[in-house]
Amino acid sequence: MSLSGGSPARGGGLYVHVPFCRTRCNYCGFFSQTDLRPADALMVHLQTEVRLRGSPGEPFDSLYIGGGTPTVLPGGMLEEMICRLLATVPLAAAAEITVEANPDDVTSGLLRGLRRAGVNRLSIGVQSFHDDELRFLGRRHTAHQARAAIGMARAAGFANLGIDLMFGFRGQRRDRWLRSLDEMWAWRPEHVSCYQLSIEADTPLGRRVACGSLARVPESKEHSFFLATSQLLRARGYQHYEVSNFALPGFRSRHNLRYWRRAPYLGLGPSAHSFDGTMRWWNVRSVTEYAAALGRGLLPVAESERLTDEQVYLEQLMLGFRTDAGVEIPLLSGHPLGAETLERLEAQGLLVRRDGRAVPTLCGLALGDRLPLEFVS
Ligand code: SF4
Repeated sequence: MSLSGGSPARGGGLYVHVPFCRTRCNYCGFFSQTDLRPADALMVHLQTEVRLRGSPGEPFDSLYIGGGTPTVLPGGMLEEMICRLLATVPLAAAAEITVEANPDDVTSGLLRGLRRAGVNRLSIGVQSFHDDELRFLGRRHTAHQARAAIGMARAAGFANLGIDLMFGFRGQRRDRWLRSLDEMWAWRPEHVSCYQLSIEADTPLGRRVACGSLARVPESKEHSFFLATSQLLRARGYQHYEVSNFALPGFRSRHNLRYWRRAPYLGLGPSAHSFDGTMRWWNVRSVTEYAAALGRGLLPVAESERLTDEQVYLEQLMLGFRTDAGVEIPLLSGHPLGAETLERLEAQGLLVRRDGRAVPTLCGLALGDRLPLEFVS
């Protein structure tokens, strides 16, 4: 492990990872710990990390507080943390400031505090409007708490609201999934993320699959849920702009678009990833090691990498083909396999040409990472 390396991203997006959750969900592979005692020190550590990183040169145009669960921070700590960050790092005047919230943490007081701190976008991890599905996923909240949280967010004045939902798990019925989408629609959120459950190895669901007590969902079922979701949400005015993400016009997540466009971002906090346009680096996945490195005056970087030209090419395809922006055709046709693969995928109805770009169709989007691999295998 190297605790040096990594230069500041120039402007771009700023991500802050809050590495705490009250309990761990059955599917989650993100880094967090359930011992909340070190939470009090997080704010000081983040400020030390900011100081060690140096000036970003240009103001950030988005701030995204994720995790983990930012809303588990006690009292007014989250509000204070955001205020202190905003006093320390330059942020553009019209920056998008997002906080991820868990429904069971949401109170009117918390939301008022976030609004006071300048948060203009709230992303609520609803996942399902059915209690049995929430229990299967290991979520702490109930459907009732999810409804209450959304109502409080609207009452607090959040006019850019995101709702996260999950589909594609064992036993989930299509009619109940569509009911969750209907219920979501009743709130008219500006942004909707519909994530297909992916089974990660080192999680309770992953262990159940490994020992045979839980079967994987057939790909045909995942595919049919994906298509039905897109059709329904597009019929309601949402733009399906990334595999899992839908937005009403004007409400795409500016911060997350940076990731898919390979634009620079700086990540603060344990396990946070950064990219400066050339180099990537990521912080240690340990609250203790993170604090210890900063205490010694070192950046808490675990590793860094510079991609080869071939890796950059594959990454441009992987990210571009996740979105409705697709990939520039000259980038494809300049590669040995590019032109003929593009023609073949076009003939198969997986890509279309639009404004000089190769853009995935809905069936192309459904293929996920297999589409870009066609260009390099
Ligand atoms: S899904 Fe969210 S709340 Fe659940 S363990 Fe992961 S980070 Fe925590």
